[in-house]
Amino acid sequence: RSRRRWLRVVRVLDEFEETASTPVGRLRQVVDAMAVEMHAGLASEGGSKLKMLLTFVDNLPDGSENGTYYALHIGGTNFRLLRIQLGGQRSILGHDVERKPIPQHLMTSTSEELFDFIALSLKEFIERNGNKNNQVRGKDLGFTFSFPVKQTSLSSGTLIKWTKGFAIQDMVEKDVVECLQKALSRIGIDMNVAALVNDSVGTLALGHFYDKDTVAAVVIGTGTNACYLERADAVIKCQGLLTASGGMVINMEWGNFWSSHLPRTSYDIDLDAESQNPNDQGFEKMISGMYLGDIVRRVIHKMSLESDIFGPVSSKLSARFVLSTPSMAAMHEDDTPNLSEVAKILEDSLDIYNVPLKVRKLVVKICDVVTRRAARLAAAGIVGILKKIGRDGTAGITSGRVKSGKSGKMRRTVVAIEGGLYTSYTIFREYLNEAVGEILGEEIAPFVILKVMEDGSGIGSAMLAASNSSQG
Ligand code: ADP
Repeated sequence: RSRRRWLRVVRVLDEFEETASTPVGRLRQVVDAMAVEMHAGLASEGGSKLKMLLTFVDNLPDGSENGTYYALHIGGTNFRLLRIQLGGQRSILGHDVERKPIPQHLMTSTSEELFDFIALSLKEFIERNGNKNNQVRGKDLGFTFSFPVKQTSLSSGTLIKWTKGFAIQDMVEKDVVECLQKALSRIGIDMNVAALVNDSVGTLALGHFYDKDTVAAVVIGTGTNACYLERADAVIKCQGLLTASGGMVINMEWGNFWSSHLPRTSYDIDLDAESQNPNDQGFEKMISGMYLGDIVRRVIHKMSLESDIFGPVSSKLSARFVLSTPSMAAMHEDDTPNLSEVAKILEDSLDIYNVPLKVRKLVVKICDVVTRRAARLAAAGIVGILKKIGRDGTAGITSGRVKSGKSGKMRRTVVAIEGGLYTSYTIFREYLNEAVGEILGEEIAPFVILKVMEDGSGIGSAMLAASNSSQG
């Protein structure tokens, strides 16, 4: 009898593993789909699930920026305040960062409440950090706002929709900078929002500040997104787009990418249906930190219903988000011989007690399947961007024929990456790096460098405020 119930559970695992598998052939299909969707999103408004938003950033920082600048970053679990001093010649003389969790109730309240909280936090931050070393106080503010925004200039744009659990209805379609600027005057802060940027754009800016071969940036934290430097004339939906540099950074909003080649399981379908934004952000829901733990929770729940190897079905197993991604990562990376960390987290997060070692190993395996798929899909997305801009070694498609000019034409290409999932979850990072190499092949892979940009989204936005300062 006990053998039979074990087999039932193994069947659940096998089926999950099979449906979620990401052999390199499938990843290449995802690469192609990403490049195709990018084209479609640039061709016409609404042409793809990828919004391919204009950012009005046409010049990335080059290291010559000078002075003191502030930045605010909102977009996930933590709200961040930053202050940087730039000294020209690619040097950052100093920077302070403060993180504050956003009170849960503010994520679904009113825009005034949210922005008053932000403005007040900034005021306190300036008072604490403002006059160190008798620095002249900076007046220009970079604002990193990591939600889909339709920009009308570098310093204005309206919110398209919320993601990642935020839901403040009165803000949708409002000008985000205006909301902030008004709160700043309510609180009595004399500052000018010089740049409104998405987190991935900030990351790209910092990447470029250090290394001019940086052409794209990816954020993988609570949510996920990417941006890259495109030729202005490739933005077909915006005829006659002229920029001084001939380029334009495009915010892909890749969390919303979708393709039939994505290995979707029944757990993904349920997670989506029960989410605050069903049929939305499909790629993000397979990849990012907000969701991975919850996918694992769903698989364990299914097993627990099929068999009693986890003991009586814990009621926690049907509660969304009780297993966080950091807890899941801790189970995955448990290196104690008897997996005592796994046992502890099963108890603490899921009320599951006294499971044998064999079952704990099974849990680690589930974490592995979920994380491996996420990391490999993100890798395919990255190579998709490189393919779109002719940096994946296949040198684009001319008259329907793939040119085989391989590494001879390949240029050094840097992709800036940040976000807690990539920086703090070692196995995730390793899987992602490995998959990029696997997809590109050993001839091309050495030309592509993934560089971590710690706090890039905030620092980069302060830099963009610097290069677009109203004070000249
Ligand atoms: P943001 O919330 O703005 O995206 P981060 O980039 O710091 O901020 O990402 C935080 C997210 O990264 C968390 O919500 C969590 O999902 C994930 N994360 C952080 N630390 C770890 C970790 N040690 N293991 C796995 N995931 C982690």
